[in-house]
Amino acid sequence: MWNPVRVQVLVVEDDGSIADAVMSGLSRQGFQPTLVTTGRAALDHDGTPDLVLLDLGLPDLDGTEVCRQLRDRSNVPIIIMSARSDEVDRVLLLESGADDYVVKPFGMRELVARIRAVARRSSPDVTSQEPADDVIEAGAIRIDPRTRRVTVDGDEVALTPKEFDLLRHLAADPGAVMRRRDILEEVWEPNWFGSAKTLDVHVASLRRKLGHADWIEAVRGVGFRLVERPGV
Ligand code: CA
Repeated sequence: MWNPVRVQVLVVEDDGSIADAVMSGLSRQGFQPTLVTTGRAALDHDGTPDLVLLDLGLPDLDGTEVCRQLRDRSNVPIIIMSARSDEVDRVLLLESGADDYVVKPFGMRELVARIRAVARRSSPDVTSQEPADDVIEAGAIRIDPRTRRVTVDGDEVALTPKEFDLLRHLAADPGAVMRRRDILEEVWEPNWFGSAKTLDVHVASLRRKLGHADWIEAVRGVGFRLVERPGV
């Protein structure tokens, strides 16, 4: 499972409301975002981001030019945030060295999915990075990624490796609906074409082992979410 912790994202966006939404969304997902608001500041930035999110409509320089210059000197993955959606621009974007783009308005879920896909493609180091060892607590559930132990109200629950990964994935953002496709990609593997039933089977056994079926809610047609509940 790919973990966003320690992934530094340089966000280049002059629109305050979009910048705020992206910055707080990325932080909530565990990324380490840094914001600059001009093309010049992006080019002068002396950090070493793992990924750049680049607005096209910047106050000083053209976004495609910024993209080109960044690409000239680095292989850093670049995702363009564009308000333009026509085909010509898409080709232009990719020709200017961008790895992908999102069209405004976009949701955080879509953005994070793009970031993951791009990071996976372009940086094996990032994708194979060991997940952080921070203990995750969601209600009565306590997940220790280092020892891969899970307790409910202090009692250890024995999970299979996949059940553990599934629970940890759901617990990364309690309350948020995780899409089936994303779960399969994250917990199983990219381009996993096995039976979709596999996920349901694992959810069912995870519910059984946690002892509270309603802690993992199914959202019809979308996916699943972990509900933070205190122990009973
Ligand atoms: Ca702009």
